[in-house]
Amino acid sequence: MTVTRGHAEALDREDELAPFRERFVLDDGERIYADGNSLGRLPRATATRLEELVHEWGDRLVSGWQDWIELPAQTGDLLGRLLGARDGEVLVCDSTTVNLYKLAQAALDLRPGSIATDAGNFPTDRYVLEGVASRRGVELRLFETDDVAGPTAEDVTRACADGSVSLVCLSQVAFRSGALADMAAITAVARDAGALVLWDLSHSAGAVPVELSGAGAELAVGCTYKYLNAGPGAPAFLYARRELQPRLRSPIQGWFGQRDQFAMGPRYEPEDGIGRFHAGTPSVLGLASVEVGVELVLEAGLDRIRRKSEALTELTIALADERLEQLGFRVATPLDSARRGGHVALAHPESWRICRALIELAHVVPDFRPPDVVRLGFSPLYSRFVDVWDAVDRLAGLVERGEHERVDATPLRVT
Ligand SMILES: *Cc1c(COP(=O)(O)O)cnc(C)c1O
Repeated sequence: MTVTRGHAEALDREDELAPFRERFVLDDGERIYADGNSLGRLPRATATRLEELVHEWGDRLVSGWQDWIELPAQTGDLLGRLLGARDGEVLVCDSTTVNLYKLAQAALDLRPGSIATDAGNFPTDRYVLEGVASRRGVELRLFETDDVAGPTAEDVTRACADGSVSLVCLSQVAFRSGALADMAAITAVARDAGALVLWDLSHSAGAVPVELSGAGAELAVGCTYKYLNAGPGAPAFLYARRELQPRLRSPIQGWFGQRDQFAMGPRYEPEDGIGRFHAGTPSVLGLASVEVGVELVLEAGLDRIRRKSEALTELTIALADERLEQLGFRVATPLDSARRGGHVALAHPESWRICRALIELAHVVPDFRPPDVVRLGFSPLYSRFVDVWDAVDRLAGLVERGEHERVDATPLRVT
C-alpha cells in the first residue's frame, strides 16, 4: 500500500492536537523542523511570560525573591504530574548533568558499590559516571545492549549478576535508537540485585507518560528543553522517592539546600525534603519557561500527546519502508510503538552528508548522531503529519538525485 500525501492530510484533519501548533512561534517558510527531540520550539506564551518577568525583576528587585524562591519546588510539583511523581519529589534546578552527578554521589554514599550503565547511554551520563567511579575507586561497568532495542531487564540482571553493583544508570528512552526501556521491570530486577536505578528521562519528559511511583523508581533526572519546550539551557529536574530522601545527601552543600537558609548559621544542615538537592541561586527566568512548557503539555494531555507521537513515528517508519529502504536506509528504532519514544533513527552509511544536505538543500532539520544515524523527531504539539510526509519525500528525492554527494562533509562544532 502506498502512503499518499492525502493520507497524511487526512490524519492532520483528525488530529485533536492540531490547534496547539499555533501556540508556538512558527515562522518557517519552507523549513520542516524534525529536531524537537533536541531543542523544542518556543511557545508563544513563554515569550510573553519572560517579558513580564523581566519587568517584574526591574520593578520588584530583590523583594521578588519572596515569591521566586518557591519556584523550583512549585515547578517541580507541576512537572511531577507528568512523571507520575508525588508532590515534594521533584525539584527543578541546575542541568541534567549536574543533577545526575548529585544523585549518583548521593546514591553511592548510601549504598557503596560499583556502577553499571549501558555502553550506548548518552555521553554526559557515561562521562559523569566515569568521573564518579574513578574518584571513588569503584568500577564503572559498561554493558552492551542491542543497538536498536536498548537496555532490557535481562541485560541489567546480567550486569548485576555478581552482586557488586549498587547503582544502575539508564535512559528511559535511548537517545540514538529511541528505544523505550521497561522502567518497572528493570527497576525490579535491579532491586533484587541490591542496586538503585537512576533514570534519565531527558527524552521521555513531555513525550511519554512516565510512572515513577508506579514503577517503584527511586531516582531520576531529565531535561526540559526537549519535549517540554523550555528553551536552550532551561533548568533540568531531579526526582528522589519520598521515602528515600531523608537518607540522601547532596555532594554539593549549597546554601539553597540548607534547612534554615537565611539564618546563615555556621554549619550545613540539609533541608528535610527534596529541597536538600538545591545547590545555589536558581535561574528564575529559566524556571518560568519550564512552567509554561509544562503547563502546555498538561493542557494538551500526555495521553493525547503520546497517541499522536506514536502515530507520527508510525507514519515515519511506514514511509521509510516504502521510500527509503531501497536507498540504503535502515530503520534503527524499535518497530513496536510500545517500545519506542518520540523519534525515529534512520541508519545510512552516508548519514552525515545526507543530514547536511537535508538542512542546506531541502530545509528539513533533523540531527546526526554518530556513527551513522539521522534522527527524525517530530514533536507532537506542533508537528503535522504532512511535515513527516514532506520530510521523507524531500529526503528520498535528495538521495535519489545524489545531491548529498555535493555537500561539504567537513564536521561542524555542533551536530
Ligand atoms: C539531552 C540529554 C542530556 C542533556 O544534559 P545537559 O546537562 O542538559 O547538557 C542528558 N542526558 C540525556 C539522556 C539527554 O538526552
